[in-house]
Amino acid sequence: MRALGIAGLLGLAACAPAPETGRPLTAQSYAHWSLLPAASVIAPGQFALAGATASCDAAPTVLNPHLDDTAAAYGDFIVVNPGRLTGLAPAVQHWAYAHECGHIRFGADEARADCSAVEDGARQGWLTRSGLDQVCDYIGTTKADLRHDGGAARCRAMRVCFAKVANIK
Ligand SMILES: [Zn+2]
Repeated sequence: MRALGIAGLLGLAACAPAPETGRPLTAQSYAHWSLLPAASVIAPGQFALAGATASCDAAPTVLNPHLDDTAAAYGDFIVVNPGRLTGLAPAVQHWAYAHECGHIRFGADEARADCSAVEDGARQGWLTRSGLDQVCDYIGTTKADLRHDGGAARCRAMRVCFAKVANIK
């Protein structure tokens, strides 16, 4: 659940062979420099999780089995580790993807990404109250770190976001 800002990109450049083109990182260049096959880059709207489309505006999705997280947002694309995602409940898979989409839309703010994800889920129909319970079970044991509040606090905030959208349906 990471969003790479300028510092993160600099860190990446410092420890990996990065293209010295001066151009922004794209899904294709990320896949190339991560030694992933070209087919790892999925066009916007073409990616599916648990049998249902997972899309994020115009963002492509890159499949990276070496990513040390379930999903991450880099610039204007989403990277997922299929092996880490597919064992999770469908609602949790879609939430993890939509959380990264929230980073692409709104930047590094974790609370904003969480809220954006549950709003998308309520509007698009892949997140129900019981699905949100599964998400809360999934993150409920996580501790706060520099970027994330603890799981319980994140869940309280997400339930407020969810109720606002669910109530206007
Ligand atoms: Zn995040």
